[in-house]
Amino acid sequence: MSDKEPVARTNFIRQIIEEDLASGKHSRIATRFPPEPNGYLHIGHAKSIVLNFGVAEDYGGTCNLRFDDTNPHKENVEYVEAIKADVRWLGYDWDDRLFFASDYFEQLYQFALELIDKGLAYVCELTPEEVRAYRGTLTEPGRDSPYRDRPAAENRDLFQRMRAGEFPDGTKTLRAKIDMASPNVNLRDPVLYRIRHGVVHHQTGSEWCLYPMYDYTHPISDALEGITHSLCTLEFEDHRPFYDWVVDHVSVPCKPRQIEFSRLNLEYTVMSKRRLTMLVSEGYVEGWDDPRMPTIAGLRRRGYTPAAIRAFCDRVGVTKADNLVEMAALESAIREDLDRSAPRAMAVLRPLKVVIEDYPDDKTEGLAVANHPKDESLGSRRIPFARELYIDGEDFSEAPPPGFKRLVPGGEVRLRNAYVIRCDQVIKDEAGEVVELRCSHDADTLGRNPEGRKVKGVIHWVSAAQSVTAEVRLYDRLFSVPEPGAGKDDFLADLNPDSLRTLTGCRLEPSLADAGPGQRFQFEREGYFVLDPDSRPARLVFNRTVDLRDTWGRGGKS
Ligand code: ATP
Ligand code: MG
Repeated sequence: MSDKEPVARTNFIRQIIEEDLASGKHSRIATRFPPEPNGYLHIGHAKSIVLNFGVAEDYGGTCNLRFDDTNPHKENVEYVEAIKADVRWLGYDWDDRLFFASDYFEQLYQFALELIDKGLAYVCELTPEEVRAYRGTLTEPGRDSPYRDRPAAENRDLFQRMRAGEFPDGTKTLRAKIDMASPNVNLRDPVLYRIRHGVVHHQTGSEWCLYPMYDYTHPISDALEGITHSLCTLEFEDHRPFYDWVVDHVSVPCKPRQIEFSRLNLEYTVMSKRRLTMLVSEGYVEGWDDPRMPTIAGLRRRGYTPAAIRAFCDRVGVTKADNLVEMAALESAIREDLDRSAPRAMAVLRPLKVVIEDYPDDKTEGLAVANHPKDESLGSRRIPFARELYIDGEDFSEAPPPGFKRLVPGGEVRLRNAYVIRCDQVIKDEAGEVVELRCSHDADTLGRNPEGRKVKGVIHWVSAAQSVTAEVRLYDRLFSVPEPGAGKDDFLADLNPDSLRTLTGCRLEPSLADAGPGQRFQFEREGYFVLDPDSRPARLVFNRTVDLRDTWGRGGKS
C-alpha cells in the first residue's frame, strides 16, 4: 500500500460491517471472492479482491476463494490456476478455504427437491423461446407456464429423471414458482436448472447432465460457507430479491446479506471477459498476459507491483456511483511505488555513437554511482566510462527547437554522473543521416561544475564496448478512445494500431546484464522498465511499465 498517502479506507460497506459487529448481529465476518473461471482476472476483479480480502483482513474475518463454475462449456482449469496465482500475487491468502460451487452440486440438487416438495419449484417444458415469450416485459406482466401447476410428486419424478439423463438438452428446466406478474422480472419463475449433455466439467467430469443456474447457486453457496456479507457489483441489485427468496425458502444454515457496489471501469480499455477473450483468441494481443491487457497477468508482465494495484484500488474507493477512472490514476500509483523502490540505471534506446577524441583509447574509468538518489540502502555500482560511448539520438539536434538544452554542434552537455563534453564534429552517412559525433571532454568536470560557464543539459549515456544490447518494448494504450466501442457495434475498430513499438539494438549499462525476470528499474530520463520473461541470456527484453511523468493526453513522449 502507499506509504505516502495512507487512504482512509472507509466506505459504505465497511460502515455496514462495523454496525453489524457493534450491534452483535455478527461476531465475526466472512466474505468471498467468487470468480467464474472463464477468463483471466482483470483490474476490475482486483477492486473486488481488495475489497473482499481487505475487509476480512481488517475486521479479523475470513475471505474464501470460490470458483463459480456453473457454466462448464466456457470454463477450464487453465483459468482456475491463473486466477489462484493472480490472487496470491496480489498479496492475499485464502488458507484452506478454496471452494468450487460444483462442490455443492449434490446439496443444490437436494435443496431443489426441497423446493419441489414445498410446491415452490416445477419442471417446465416450454422451449427457451417460449420461456422468453411468457416472461413478459418491463411494462407487461408475464404469463403462467402451462406446466406451473404440476403436482409435487410428478415434479419430483421428472426432476430425478432429468438428473438421470432421460431427457435431451433444452426439453425441460426446473423453475422456481414465484410470481409471473412481479414487477421484477427476476422473480418471474426464474430457471433453476437446465440440462446439458456431453460437456465435461473441469471439476465434476461427466457426473452431471443437469446444471444449476448462477442465481440459484450463488446464494446457497454463500449460505453453506457461512458468508455474512456477499459483496457484488451493481448489476446484481435487481437479483437481490431472488437471492433473498432462495435463502429464505431452503434449509440453509444462515442468511448472508448481499450488498452491491459499482464496477470499476477504466478509460482506454475494455473489461468484459467476452471482449478480452476475443482480443486473445483472435490474436489482437499476444495472450492474456500481453502487457497491454488490463489483466492482472498483463499488468504484472508490464511491471506493475501488487502494492501499486492495491493502492490504486484503495484510492478508487467503493461506492454505488457509476465511474470511468482515468488511466492516469493507475499510472500514478505505479509511478509512486517505483519512484521509491526501483534502482536507477542508464539505457540508451536509440543509440548514437560518440567518440571522445581527447580521451585515451586504452583507458576505462569505473565511475561510482548511487543506485537510488534517495535510498542509500539500494547501494551503488560502478559504470564504465571510455572513449567510445552511446547517447540517445534524440539528445542531439543539428537544428534544435527553442529551449533545446541537450547536445548541439559546437555546444556542451553534461553526461550524467560523468564529464561535460562538447560536440566538435558531426559525421553523416551517404544518406545524410547523423551516424557519429566527435567530441571532447572537460577533464575537470567530474562531480564538479565547469569553470566560468554554465552547462544546463544533462543526458544519459553508456560505454560502447561494455554496454549490452537489448530489445525494448514501448507500450501505448490499447485503444485510441476512452470508451472503446461506445456508440458503435465493433469495439475492435477502436484498437490503437500503435499500441506496441519495439526498439531493437538498444544499449544498456553492463550492470543490467544480470537482471532477473520481473526485475524493475528506472532507466534514467526514459521511464520505468521491467525485464520480460521473453529474455534469454545475451538477449535481454525490457518492457516499459510507464514513463516518468504524466504525458497522457499530450500525445506522450516517444
Ligand atoms: P464478465 O461479466 O466480464 O464475465 P464477471 O463480473 O462475470 O465479468 P466474474 O468472474 O463473475 O466476472 O467476477 C468475479 C467477481 O468480480 C464478481 O463478484 C464481480 O462482481 C467482480 N467484478 C467483476 N468485474 C468487476 C469490475 N469491473 N469491478 C469490480 N468488480 C468486478
Ligand atoms: Mg459473473
